[in-house]
Amino acid sequence: MERENNTVMTGLLGYPVSHSLSPLMHNYAFRHLGLAYHYAAFAVPPHLLPSAVEGIRALGFRGCNLTIPHKVAVIPLLDELDEEARLIGAVNTIVNEKGALIGYNTDGKGYLRSLTEETGILLSGGKAVILGAGGAARAIAVTLARSGLKEIVIANRTRDKAEELASTVFAAALKPAVPAVRVVSLEQAAEKVADAGLLVNTTSIGMTPHTEDCPLPTEVLHAELVVSDLVYAPLETALLRAAKKAGARTHPGVGMLVHQGALAFQYWTGREAPLKLMYETVWNELKSK
Ligand code: NAP
Repeated sequence: MERENNTVMTGLLGYPVSHSLSPLMHNYAFRHLGLAYHYAAFAVPPHLLPSAVEGIRALGFRGCNLTIPHKVAVIPLLDELDEEARLIGAVNTIVNEKGALIGYNTDGKGYLRSLTEETGILLSGGKAVILGAGGAARAIAVTLARSGLKEIVIANRTRDKAEELASTVFAAALKPAVPAVRVVSLEQAAEKVADAGLLVNTTSIGMTPHTEDCPLPTEVLHAELVVSDLVYAPLETALLRAAKKAGARTHPGVGMLVHQGALAFQYWTGREAPLKLMYETVWNELKSK
């Protein structure tokens, strides 16, 4: 099927998608660069994912993003998988190369870029504590394991998921610089923070409307830490407020959101993404809520 006009379509497949800031962020960026692209969000229930992915080919979409619950289920529907997506075991970006659908994962790299740009952290030889073992934790843990850390602690409410993630992380690490990977309970995570350089909250604890919730006791935070919180609504979580008070450097979730989008933007358009504009767009939208 050939499109009748010149607009290049991209979008998001998820369920639900109504809360997503990606259409706003990408459409501002396309307009800013004068690109005849459009990004739309589609609520696709799980049983219709194969038809939706086939639709990307049939309708000639340039690509799309994937969010909960499709990041893993989409893999068998694609023609090729990028190395990072294969290691992480999840895809958040599809690029349509003349009918061949290639799966990428920009979450881990987006997180790392935003972390290093915003905090200047040196990861080599350090220790990170990751709270959570869900989809976002997978991308972050695998990426951090390939960044020269000497130790990674994974703490999750459901221990089995943390154990499974630890095996994935161990297998994905770059030889010979394989970090020690430990699994602890969320309660035990507090004592592991004392000699860590990075603490990452990948759980949804602290998200609106539960904005006073914190994933661990704030007394354990200290000035040598960089504290990342993936939660971006609110813009500053209770964890980040406490981290600031303890003298730690903080890294809010909005940076990862923008950088993972910017990388997808670059895959689709071949152009450098207008990062500052995308950041301001998302920031202003979140602030107004
Ligand atoms: P997910 O796959 O559903 O994982 C959720 C994680 O949070 C699991 O580890 C879960 O533990 C834990 N959790 C949830 N409620 C909890 C509670 N009450 N007590 C303890 N642990 C709890 O979700 P996800 O996709 O990884 O997303 C996680 C968070 O990251 C969300 O807030 C999301 O908005 C945010 N996120 C941000 C970005 C960004 O760009 N900034 C990107 C992706 C995600 P169990 O395994 O025990 O259920």
